[in-house]
Amino acid sequence: MAGTVPSGERKLLPASLVGALEERFADRFQRGEAVLGQHGSSETHFATMLPDAVVYARSTDDVVALVKLCAAADIPIIPFGAGTSIEGNAAPVNGGISLDMSQMDRVLAVHTEDFDCVVQPGVRREELNLHLRDQGLFFPIDPGANATIGGMASTRASGTNAVRYGTMKDAVLSLEVVTPQGEVIRTARRARKSAAGYDLTRLYVGSEGTLGIITEVTLRLHPVPDTISAAVCSFATLGGAVDTVVQSIQCAVPLARVEILDTKQMIAVNRWSKLDYPEAPTLFFEFHGSAAYVAEQVETVKVLAEANGGSAFNWSNLPEERSKLWRARHDAYYAAVNMRAGAIGWATDVCVPMSRLAECIAETHADLETSSVPATILGHVGDGNFHVIFSIDPDAPAEMEEVEAINAKLIERALAMDGTCTGEHGIGLGKQDWLVAELGNAVDQMRLIKRAFDPQNLLNPGKIFTL
Ligand SMILES: Cc1cc2nc3c(=O)[nH]c(=O)nc-3n(C[C@H](O)[C@H](O)[C@H](O)COP(=O)(O)OP(=O)(O)OC[C@H]3O[C@@H](n4cnc5c(N)ncnc54)[C@H](O)[C@@H]3O)c2cc1C
Repeated sequence: MAGTVPSGERKLLPASLVGALEERFADRFQRGEAVLGQHGSSETHFATMLPDAVVYARSTDDVVALVKLCAAADIPIIPFGAGTSIEGNAAPVNGGISLDMSQMDRVLAVHTEDFDCVVQPGVRREELNLHLRDQGLFFPIDPGANATIGGMASTRASGTNAVRYGTMKDAVLSLEVVTPQGEVIRTARRARKSAAGYDLTRLYVGSEGTLGIITEVTLRLHPVPDTISAAVCSFATLGGAVDTVVQSIQCAVPLARVEILDTKQMIAVNRWSKLDYPEAPTLFFEFHGSAAYVAEQVETVKVLAEANGGSAFNWSNLPEERSKLWRARHDAYYAAVNMRAGAIGWATDVCVPMSRLAECIAETHADLETSSVPATILGHVGDGNFHVIFSIDPDAPAEMEEVEAINAKLIERALAMDGTCTGEHGIGLGKQDWLVAELGNAVDQMRLIKRAFDPQNLLNPGKIFTL
């Protein structure tokens, strides 16, 4: 069940469409090799698939105009944010127009009293937090890459803070969307809750650009906590680290962040980020709250860690120390892949109920012990979500086959534990067969929704499932 590319017809751009796009978008309509390459290659193991052209949108009107022109010419549109998705989600499998949303990058409003903001979809998560810095608010969702808010909404992304603050499904309050017919709709108002009809917001969140193009996002924000404490703790065994997390969650400790890194990942992190942490299974923690509340959380977790073979906590309380720590965690994917020069990465993404996490990680770790492809384990274990990062020799097809087999075994294991094949990366091209294995005939209902919303199959065709 590897990532197969759905076969479909590639239609040349008609001259009339090219003329109309040149007239409407001028130099924001591009067909140069470098630009096509940038929009057709992926962060992971998928082959490059070039679009026929790239259009840079600057407004909702631009998106409407493009949709109408492409619908009339029957040419697909593939929305593109920062291109950091892992499962070939933004790959133009049958060509078409890659619609680059990165220039729609304005923060339109911040409502400090309501703890929300309205942004264009090309705003990147780090820039949003820079914008919010002086207002005592922050946006917690932090995939390792500096992704766009539109891309993150479309993959239902999460990150290190999800254990406390939720994922994009919790963060998005409302969307402005351009439909495949070129209509502009708003899925909700700014109220914190609503029972007004179908929850279209949550339907578009995670739809990977297949149902509509997001042109505005209203996001829930959070107050910056009074006290933030981060710590690193190494363990004698990987099992001890996992047990500490599971027990902390079961004791209802409101961990803000808890990330696991196995020994090989710690070796990679030290090498890549020039650090000198103990090279042993490790947890990165962060605690948020009032000083007293943080002290209470820390005390509980310390006791649990000690009982599970943890060392003393190594604290990073100054903001610059904390950002160094989390920068190292965010760079962990590149650290792991680049342990081998010229290697390409493959990141798995299962998520299981907390009660099965220790077993799932232990069995996966045992599989990796006999793998000939270098691999590390890291993940957002507070949610039951972890990744294996493989560092694959692109010139050794046998390695790709071996990784496919290990990934298949891992997903089967997660499904047998009532987990999922993807905690946060989405389905894209790589997990389509696994989606069916996971949800069976529910996928037929998804197909009905896609056909009803986009009968022409104009938007990001060939993703999530084949029609
Ligand atoms: C080093 C690294 C670490 C990562 N860590 C995490 C992690 O911790 N958690 C996590 O969730 N992910 C992680 N990712 C994956 C990636 O960052 C996320 O999937 C992110 O949400 C993709 O955002 P993007 O802006 O790059 O979107 P893209 O890759 O450009 O697009 C992703 C999907 O969204 C669609 N899309 C983009 N913009 C729009 C729009 N405006 N309207 C409609 N559809 C749109 C595209 O068609 C595509 O289907 C990581 C990736 C890397 C490289």
